[in-house]
Amino acid sequence: MNRYYPCIEVDLDKIRHNAEAAIIICKGIDITGVTKVVCSNLQIVKTFIEAGIKTIGDSRILNLKKIKDFPCQKMLLRIPSKSQVEDVVRYSDISLNSDIDVIREISRECVKQEKVHKIILMLEMGDLREGVMPYDAVKVSREIVELPGIQFIGVGTNLTCYGGVIPDNDNLGRLIKTRDHIEEELGIKLPVISGGNSSSMYKVVEGTMPEQINSLRLGESILLGHDTAYFRKIPGMYEDAFIVKAEVIEREVKPSVPYGDIGLDAFGNKPKFEDRGYIKRVILAIGRQDVKVSGLIPKDRDIKIIGASSDHLIADVTNSSREYKTGDIVEFGVDYGALLACMTSEYISKYINSEAVLV
Ligand SMILES: *Cc1c(COP(=O)(O)O)cnc(C)c1O
Repeated sequence: MNRYYPCIEVDLDKIRHNAEAAIIICKGIDITGVTKVVCSNLQIVKTFIEAGIKTIGDSRILNLKKIKDFPCQKMLLRIPSKSQVEDVVRYSDISLNSDIDVIREISRECVKQEKVHKIILMLEMGDLREGVMPYDAVKVSREIVELPGIQFIGVGTNLTCYGGVIPDNDNLGRLIKTRDHIEEELGIKLPVISGGNSSSMYKVVEGTMPEQINSLRLGESILLGHDTAYFRKIPGMYEDAFIVKAEVIEREVKPSVPYGDIGLDAFGNKPKFEDRGYIKRVILAIGRQDVKVSGLIPKDRDIKIIGASSDHLIADVTNSSREYKTGDIVEFGVDYGALLACMTSEYISKYINSEAVLV
């Protein structure tokens, strides 16, 4: 079969395996399978659902709209925009929220559409992205419970995103205590405590997750097989469900240091070079318009990526035992940023279980 390069290859069997493993590891914890990094690719969402995941989470309404007919509950992860409230109610069943004005708008829209929408109130636990301050939680909750069309199901937190704060018994303990406090003050039940994203997985694996945490929102840990607090492989999961391939378009021996007056590179940076004499190098037909270059992990460990512009990637292959030539294909593993960029770039072909797909 004629392949188009650069491409990303997706192995659905490995993703299915990882999703099933996550469900087993997270016994007693309800998993929201997060698919934003793969733009809610239909086959990957379908694979999550087949593996037994009942709720799919995405940050973008556009992605949830793509899967509107799939048999799963849909969760909007990014706190809703006022301008999108109509679609929020139409295409998601649950949303994470931190602003009472927006929740009021959602309530109004629910009445209009004759729908009930579930709300998880996000609480700030130190990472400083979304969430109300815990001392305001009771006040905001008191308003939420009065709103028609809104089913207030629980609280949640998001960690290790802006501030890099790692989930632990202290911040998760405060989340649980705040939930308990709201329940006591208002005489209501909030059954869901959503204890974070893939950075919380390490606590589940270690067996130190507080038992009250009964919900997690997991993307990267299922798709790439590691936690995101310490980046340790999750036992029994595959880390290579995604492979990026790019083609060699030049192979030359050249100096390692540019010569001439040095100004700025294509991205406005002042480049620095280490003089290692002449090196064997290749240029690959992939670039920063397609991928986060620092997130590419060459399968040939002896290749070193030394630079990239919008559409060219330069690698030092001096130490490789392979003799690269034009037309050769070089393979890479991906980190989260590289996966995100590749799945979003229209210049990267996607092959799912070896079949070409349009996304
Ligand atoms: C992206 C996101 C997640 C999932 O993050 P992963 O690291 O991929 O598990 C969970 N919750 C929220 C609010 C998010 O924005």
